[in-house]
Amino acid sequence: MSLCAADLAATAGTIPESPAPVHVHVRDCPVTCLRPLLSPVAYGLLRSECAYICGDQEPSIEHVVRLYEKGQLATVRYIGPVRLAEIRTCLTNAGLYTE
Ligand SMILES: [Zn+2]
Repeated sequence: MSLCAADLAATAGTIPESPAPVHVHVRDCPVTCLRPLLSPVAYGLLRSECAYICGDQEPSIEHVVRLYEKGQLATVRYIGPVRLAEIRTCLTNAGLYTE
C-alpha cells in the first residue's frame, strides 16, 4: 500500500499551525497578514475600509497598496496623518511598498 495524495494531505493537516507564522509577505497576502504589524485601531480601520471598497471580506495587501497610492486611504474617516504614516511604515518595512 502506498501513500496517495489524500493521505499526504491528511498527514499535513495534523501539523499544528504555528501561532505566529513567519513568512515573507507579498502583495497577494490577505490584509490579515498586517494585523500583527499594525495597532489594533489602524488595522481595524484599514481592513473594514478595504472590505467596504472592494466588497471582499478578505482583501489582499495589493488592495491596500493601491488605495494608498491613489491617496484614497488618506481620505478615510479616522485614518488621519498619524495612522496613514503608520500604515505606510508598516508596508515599507514589510517590503510591500517602495516610495
Ligand atoms: Zn503574509
